[in-house]
Order: sequence, then structure tokens, then C-alpha cells
Amino acid sequence: MTMDIQTPEHKVHPEPAGMNKPAPPYISVVVPVYNEEATLERLFGRLYPALKGIGKPFEIIFVDDGSRDRSMDLLKDFLNRCPGEVVIIEFNGNFGQHMAIMAAFERSRGEIVVTIDADLQNPPEEIPKLVRTMEAGFDAVGGYRKIRQDSLFRKIPSWAVNKITSRITGIELRDYGCMLRAYHRRIIDNINKCHETTTFIPALAHSFASNPTEVEVGHEERITGESKYTLYKLIRLNFDLMTGFSVVPLQIFTFLGFVIAMLSVAFGIFLAIRRIIVGPEAEGLFTLFDILFFLIGIMMFGVGIMGEYVGRIYQEVRKRPRYIIRKIYGHNK
Ligand code: UDP
Ligand code: MG
Repeated sequence: MTMDIQTPEHKVHPEPAGMNKPAPPYISVVVPVYNEEATLERLFGRLYPALKGIGKPFEIIFVDDGSRDRSMDLLKDFLNRCPGEVVIIEFNGNFGQHMAIMAAFERSRGEIVVTIDADLQNPPEEIPKLVRTMEAGFDAVGGYRKIRQDSLFRKIPSWAVNKITSRITGIELRDYGCMLRAYHRRIIDNINKCHETTTFIPALAHSFASNPTEVEVGHEERITGESKYTLYKLIRLNFDLMTGFSVVPLQIFTFLGFVIAMLSVAFGIFLAIRRIIVGPEAEGLFTLFDILFFLIGIMMFGVGIMGEYVGRIYQEVRKRPRYIIRKIYGHNK
């Protein structure tokens, strides 16, 4: 199975002969960057030595997700300092963290591919640990944060999301929010075959992993800059995770609708009998309204969920490019 998947890939991208290329990287580190000028210098200052310390060839792929600050200049500076080890993919706008990671995956060459946030909340010093765990025979290593240095406002929703999501999607991840993760080339090749426009990388990767594991990683407070996720973006992301990996929300709704419909039929019969025995009552008016509002609420909720799926179908059908690259700096496959 593995061979079947890998052989054609190699034929599609043959190494140009006689070009005296440096050894292909063993590790590819993928960093999505969106307005991170405040942390980039410090990130590179820690990430680079951490990778050098492993002693294997590596590449760092930065994806500039339409930053409007000096991020791009800083990234170009890194490329000048370490040519051959840094790649920059410049997006033509803001397409989101997960699309940025997808773009980098498609251009990554390493045997092991590591994703890390640019904001230094995931310590780069943990990468050797992930690599060692991969080398012990696992094909996906997820980091989970023991002590999260985040505000309660971020922690409580995350906790709830982790619980509900593993129930609904059937994908057991300890910490969906932690992006410090390592994947085997085979998983990356499979992810590259997926052309979803809305996705959640750790869950997608997990569904392709045959031998995943999780290790504890440190987590630091965002020292500078602020979270690039607004509440709205966070809700969108969680919706992607739910609807992207299961149809359970639809099924729950159908079931709920059925039960409620049955209950209202029973209630209708009860009211009819009451009308015959007790006679007309006006006092029940408000109860009726209450029930009506409840039903309308449920209906709107259901229409919303349906719309969510239909919207996704629409997006897929349009077959628009998921992201647009303005330019790639550094290596080219
Ligand atoms: N990010 C991105 N595009 C976006 C939002 C975020 O590339 O539209 C990057 C961001 O630069 C960072 C990572 O994704 O490297 C995680 O973002 P952030 O730290 O803001 O999220 P949080 O830690 O609050 O979940
Ligand atoms: Mg962060």
C-alpha cells in the first residue's frame, strides 16, 4: 500500500539530473506566519540552533499568510542568512493557518515534517523530542500541552471542544489546539491528495496515521503580539473540525427533529382531549407560544447546520484554488 502511494509520486517529481543539489532535507519544519514581526527574530534564533543540533539536513518552510507588517522582510533576511535551508512561500492574501500549512506540505521534501506556530508558544527546543519519537517507529507524533499558558477565555472553550470533538469525530486527540506535531512523509503525501478547502490538519493527519502517539510539550505565553484568532475565527475553525470529519451533527439534528415532532403530536392529542373534557382555555396561550418559539428555534438551528454542509458542497464544487501563491523564495522542487 505504502509503495503504491509513493512510487508514482517519485516519478512525478524527478530530481533534475546533474544539478549538484544539496542532500534532500530529512526534516521539514512548517511555520505559518501571519503578522508575526514581533516574534519572528526570536523564533528563528531558537528554531535554527534546535534543528542544527539534530545534525541532519533540514529545511524551514515559512508561509507568509498575507501579513501586512514587516514579517516578509524578516523572512527574506532569514533566507539570506541561511540559503538552502529556508524556503518562503508568499501568499497573495490571508487564507488561514491550515491552508498555509497545506501549501507548505505540498512543497515539503523531508522524511519527517514538523508543524510549529510562529508565535513561540510551542518551544522549538521540543522538536528533537518529536523527531526521536518518530524514529522510534511512530508515524505521527502530536504534542499536547500540559500547562497551557493561555487566558481562561481560551482554555475553557478549548477543553470543551477537545471533549466534544473526540466524541463526535471519533478521532482521539488529547489536544486539538496544539500545532507542534510531526508527521511521516507517507501521511503528508496522503494529505497532499486531499483537496478540501476547509480542513483541520491534525485531525486529517490523524485519520491517515497508522501508528500515532502523543508526547507532552511545553507551552509558553504569547510574549509579544496577540492571538491571530478572533472569537469568530475560532468558532469557524471548530465548525470546520466538526463538519469536516463527520456527519454526526446532521444526524443528531434529524433525530432531534423526529423526537420533537413526535412529542408535539402527542401534545396535540392531549390538547384535543382536554378541549373536549375541560372546554376552551385561553390561559394556555403563552405555553403554546413558548412551544412555537422552541420549535422555530430548533428549525432555524437545523437549517443553519444544513446550510453549513450545503455551503461546503458549494465551495468544493466551485473548485476555486484554495490559496494563491504570489512567489516562492528559496528552493524549488
Ligand atoms: N496564522 C496564520 N493565518 C491566520 C491566523 C494565524 O498563518 O489567519 C498563524 C499565526 O501566525 C501563528 C499560528 O497560525 O503562527 C497560530 O496562530 P495564533 O498563535 O494566533 O493562534 P492561537 O495560538 O491563539 O491558537
Ligand atoms: Mg498562538
